[in-house]
Amino acid sequence: MSPIFKRVVLKISGESLAGQKGVGVDTETMNNISKKIKVLYELGVQVAIVVGGGNFWRGRDSRDMDRTTSDYIGMLGTVMNALAFQDSLELAGVDTRVQSAIDMKQVAEPYIRRKAVRHLEKGRVVIFAAGSGSPYFSTDTAAALRAAEIEAEVILLGKKGVDGIYSSDPKIDASAKKFDELSYIDILNLGLGIMDSTATSLCMDNKIPLIVFGIDEPENIVDVVIGKQIGTHVKEV
Ligand code: UDP
Repeated sequence: MSPIFKRVVLKISGESLAGQKGVGVDTETMNNISKKIKVLYELGVQVAIVVGGGNFWRGRDSRDMDRTTSDYIGMLGTVMNALAFQDSLELAGVDTRVQSAIDMKQVAEPYIRRKAVRHLEKGRVVIFAAGSGSPYFSTDTAAALRAAEIEAEVILLGKKGVDGIYSSDPKIDASAKKFDELSYIDILNLGLGIMDSTATSLCMDNKIPLIVFGIDEPENIVDVVIGKQIGTHVKEV
């Protein structure tokens, strides 16, 4: 098994850590993902993880609350996921560091790009918590930002309940067509909701390739990194 990437950003949505429960963290589901990340770790792939927080809170969903406050709650949710994920990865025997975009020095290192890169070079998995640290953004945007900053070769976007990008929601529309390849401008022009437009534009402007795949089969995490043609590959142009 030989990897085709040296440094990747793996985006794990909060939802994918929740398992069948749909909310909170399901330890077994998380541990299964951790075991696959360990395979990458042992292959020598530098793995940075951006965790979402949708299993706890989504800023935009709380109607009456001040949006900024709501988004900060969402970011704190990602920190809970990051700590749980760190614990799970360490249990699997993977050396990790959590870096938070919101200072929380008792629980995580602050986000420092050069330090994150150093951790990766030393073979540690770095988990980025608290998204970008700013409200009105998503953790997909944070994944794009961190990927650009640490010069990752690709963003691996693991999705729950879907195995790639479709022309419409396959759960609603039986005629939805799956794309094997796509460009960022297609995503924007077709209004495909796979990522928000801020994240899509950031990836497009910085020419960061993206692979969207299903995470319900955690083995897919390994498969995308060893170059199996699964999911949807999004190219710069
Ligand atoms: N969030 C934010 N800024 C960021 C990243 C996240 O304000 O840079 C907040 C936002 O409220 C978001 C929540 O954190 O709804 C959880 O993140 P997200 O919805 O991206 O998680 P996912 O859907 O990937 O689990």
